[in-house]
Amino acid sequence: MEQEKGWILVSACLLGVNAKYNAGNNRNAAVLALSREFNLLPVCPEQLGGLPTPRPATEIRGGAGEQVLQGRAWVCTAAGQDRSDAFLRGARETLSLAELYGVGAAVFKARSPSCGCGRVYDGSFAGTLQPGDGVTTALLKQKGISVFTEEEVFRLQEWTQMKDS
Ligand code: SF4
Repeated sequence: MEQEKGWILVSACLLGVNAKYNAGNNRNAAVLALSREFNLLPVCPEQLGGLPTPRPATEIRGGAGEQVLQGRAWVCTAAGQDRSDAFLRGARETLSLAELYGVGAAVFKARSPSCGCGRVYDGSFAGTLQPGDGVTTALLKQKGISVFTEEEVFRLQEWTQMKDS
């Protein structure tokens, strides 16, 4: 009998949903092709946190997602408006969905203040990156969920083999 496909979380914008701050998307063919092996659960943590689309761009100041979870850094617009509460709410809502669907991995948009993994913008709005994760990625990782960017889709194969061994 054919094995049932497992669920993974995917940044909605990578699937072509116009969820980005500027109401555009980051449609990615390699991510869409994952539907052959997985059930894709689209999420936009910023929308789930209650932010509108379009919305002002945001970056993390004073640290990265891990520090936002600890209340030691904040997510802000270029004009200095604090959006941390919405980001925290979106991270918690995304985690609830992950738990509901028994998700073990996510493919998230690189460098985003919510979905980024490994590197995010540093709050200067000058295109400068700093090490660390977005807020939702940091929370998912704390709960044992593996997160890959769209630039690391190939690593999902490895992850599946490790999980099944
Ligand atoms: Fe895409 Fe994540 Fe930004 Fe939503 S929060 S637009 S899913 S990168």
